[in-house]
Amino acid sequence: MDFLPLFFDIKGKSVLLVGAGEIALRKARLLSRAGACIDVCALEVDDAVKLMCEQSGGKLSVGDWFELKPSLDDYSLVIAATDNSALNEALSAECHERKLPVNVVDKPELCSVITPAIVDRSPLLIAAASGGQAPVLARKVKRMLDSSFPGAYGNLAKFASRFRSRVKDAIPDMEQRRRFWERCLDGDISEKVLAGNEQAAEKLMQEALAEPNADEGGEVYLVGAGPGDPDLLTFKALRLMQKAEVVLYDRLVSQPILDMVRKDADFVYVGKERSDHAVPQKKINELLLEHAQKGKRVLRLKGGDPFIFGRGAEEIELLSEHGVPFQVVPGITAASGCASYAGIPLTHRDCSQSVRFITGHVKDGVLDFRWKEFVEDSQTLVFYMGLTGLPKICEQLIKHGKDPRTPAALVERGTQPTQRVHVGCLENLQQIVESEEVHAPTLLIIGEVVSLQEKLHWYKPEC
Ligand code: SAH
Repeated sequence: MDFLPLFFDIKGKSVLLVGAGEIALRKARLLSRAGACIDVCALEVDDAVKLMCEQSGGKLSVGDWFELKPSLDDYSLVIAATDNSALNEALSAECHERKLPVNVVDKPELCSVITPAIVDRSPLLIAAASGGQAPVLARKVKRMLDSSFPGAYGNLAKFASRFRSRVKDAIPDMEQRRRFWERCLDGDISEKVLAGNEQAAEKLMQEALAEPNADEGGEVYLVGAGPGDPDLLTFKALRLMQKAEVVLYDRLVSQPILDMVRKDADFVYVGKERSDHAVPQKKINELLLEHAQKGKRVLRLKGGDPFIFGRGAEEIELLSEHGVPFQVVPGITAASGCASYAGIPLTHRDCSQSVRFITGHVKDGVLDFRWKEFVEDSQTLVFYMGLTGLPKICEQLIKHGKDPRTPAALVERGTQPTQRVHVGCLENLQQIVESEEVHAPTLLIIGEVVSLQEKLHWYKPEC
């Protein structure tokens, strides 16, 4: 982060605005909305700037700044909106020396503070900035935010502010108060305010305040986070990720996805390495129950889909036995994600009418399968957790009659920027993999469909 975002209370404080053209006018408007007293210093002064200066109670100095050299003693902020680079640099240097916040329009290197693009729903204020690096992008973000937050959000913020102290008195506990507000702002009350029916909203608010701790029960969201690319999350997953107060996540959940979880949630890593179960499954089930019984909204975030080799069922069984409410949100499973991003269709009218998802997890050195079913034609086999067992899987398939030349691919870290696809056939895939430095997670796809990869691959990851 190059800048610390802050909101500056400038009401009644003096600001020096140097320059009085079109851009200075925009800055003057902004300063005037925030209640600043605007002193203007410029060679020539636009009428609109002059008016704003007067209305704010500021003074106007017409002339060359180098000659006038106004004292900077009483200012809380200086803004330079001129195209005179010598002036911009001198002013910036002087302000830096005095540790006085300075903004030089379009010259981020001369600024100690920058003015973001804003969406003003006062008292709610949303700011977007790019540290001066990509102002057009910041403005695009502002436009997106502008359309996502209707003007009535200002009313909602005012409504909340009217009830602030009453809610504080009725619910002294900070955590409970936060939850109360979240319920109000997520539900009917905010809908009524946004729809312009404040009377109905007030009535609901009074009812809610009469019973502030109603609906305090916890809930668990068992959410599939997909194979790694955050763009593959569902809307529902994202919504619940933003609501959760406690998050239990494992190794397969990528960092960009974790970054999208509500920032002030408690993050608990319960990740599983193949041979190192950081937290045993039984303990994870109990943790979910414990947090939910304390009234928390608990997010259990899992790679892929929670109901495909995800032990999702075990995790909610205990909750169900204890009557704790839960929701299950499907995610894009690794087979789907890896196949798409590798350019390997899992089925194809010409060569594959079915697809099997198989766990390749080796238990006590043994893979115990009905291999005969796997060697039948016209099907695609997808092995999850198949890297360690790869030589055994290929060997057994060949032994049970599968053609050693059957195409096979190992997709490494599918859908992620570091994705790699290793393509070969049953008899040589292990050799190919040995010559590369392969990292988990990997997904093994076997069948004629793999031969289409050469033509259909499209995803161009970083390396
Ligand atoms: N519930 C998950 C699967 C968990 S089992 C799902 O639906 O995808 C873990 C296995 O999934 C890994 O060993 C690997 O075989 C596979 N896997 C998950 N994410 C993957 C990825 N991004 N690339 C390749 N394989 C992946």
